[in-house]
Amino acid sequence: MTKLKYERPLIKRLENAMPNKFGMRTEFVPKTHIDNVAVKDIIEEHGSPVYVISESTLRKTFRNAYRAFSTRYPKVQFAWSYKTNYISAVCNTFHQEGSWAEVVSGFEYDKARGNGVDGRYIIFNGPDKTEDDLRMAIKNKSLIHIDHLDEYYMILNLVEELNIRPQVAIRVNMDTGIYPMWDRFGFNYENGQAWDALNKIMMSKKMDLIGLHAHIGTYMMTAEPYGVAATKLADLAVGLKQKYDHYVKYIDLGGGFASKNTLKGAYLPAEDTNPTFDDYAEAITSALLNSNIHPDHLPTLILETGRALVDDAGYLLGTVIANKRSSTGKRTTVLNIGVNLLFTSFWYDHKITPAQEFSHHVEDTVLYGPLCMNIDVIRDNASLPPLSKGDNVVIHRVGAYNMTQWMQFITLRPKVVMITEDSKVEVIRKGEDMSSISNFEKIPEHLSTFEL
Ligand SMILES: *Cc1c(COP(=O)(O)O)cnc(C)c1O
Repeated sequence: MTKLKYERPLIKRLENAMPNKFGMRTEFVPKTHIDNVAVKDIIEEHGSPVYVISESTLRKTFRNAYRAFSTRYPKVQFAWSYKTNYISAVCNTFHQEGSWAEVVSGFEYDKARGNGVDGRYIIFNGPDKTEDDLRMAIKNKSLIHIDHLDEYYMILNLVEELNIRPQVAIRVNMDTGIYPMWDRFGFNYENGQAWDALNKIMMSKKMDLIGLHAHIGTYMMTAEPYGVAATKLADLAVGLKQKYDHYVKYIDLGGGFASKNTLKGAYLPAEDTNPTFDDYAEAITSALLNSNIHPDHLPTLILETGRALVDDAGYLLGTVIANKRSSTGKRTTVLNIGVNLLFTSFWYDHKITPAQEFSHHVEDTVLYGPLCMNIDVIRDNASLPPLSKGDNVVIHRVGAYNMTQWMQFITLRPKVVMITEDSKVEVIRKGEDMSSISNFEKIPEHLSTFEL
């Protein structure tokens, strides 16, 4: 039998007011294994901190989302949002499940091509497509979602040069009842900009208008706005048929479905409150089916879901560096994971659990990272059992945006491993080393030496 750890006795004030009607939220079920692989083994082999992606969770989540839509609507296509997580093994898992690619920069476009995605299955979004990007996208017959008229005119010029008909859609922004409105991308529905762009495209007769797109926001905590957006896009589609006898091939409702991460300050855990894929699917598909689009010409429904597909599959494993008491006596634990690796800790209360067994005592704890900066707070307040130096922790639901927005600050980015469906641990991104930094630097001759 392993010897139990000594914990010093502690007198705790009894709280007579509960934080909410469900009582204290505790986070003290140990997470010792991920997909049957021991957390300790992963850390021993790959170091700490280390990111872990669960392939089976990726696939399970994707299939659940696809089921929610495809059981309600005849033609459904997902396109993986590269900026949410563009580690190739993650992208390719979604591509194997049938997802196209959704990219927002020339870099992401190249990454999708590098992964083997045919240009015809790449949706090119975003306000900053260069002339070279557009030339490449037109040649590859990619789906170009026009963001502004300057881009439209750039494409028009390229038509002269290339003599190829670009495949285009417009991005539409609109009032869906969510404020502040995301009106900086695309053409506005209410003020007529969207029709202005559609008319210009149709009158030019130089490009194929194949779709209508909206991405109304991110981490949308209700499904209804998607119904409003789908209704407005369907209305444009019906108008195009009336005015130009033209059918669009697809309506793209973008991404933005909330994951199960809980926002800071939320009263209840997001698992209990956020809509499910079925809720979003019901709002979108019923709006399309109830529209006046002719049933023989229903457009394909495209979804660019990012965070809701990948968040649950990502874990970040780390280690306790030290414990101390703050000036007010609050328990303070320093982890080897900083906000440089966990960008989303700025707005989520990430679920954090110890990776080993412990006693039942819990205490409100502040979790700091190792960066020498005051903003480096992983959790302001987590109800955790006491963790000792060397103990391991598992941070849950970190699959979205962290592996694209992480910063190389005073330390190097760690490895990312994937637990495959047959429980093998594969490195899918190497840990950085000094050469990752120094290979990019140049020292001018006169600064190459010094004496101290
Ligand atoms: C970021 C983005 C997405 C993905 O958003 P999530 O909130 O991660 O689902 C989809 N489409 C566009 C155009 C985006 O910019």
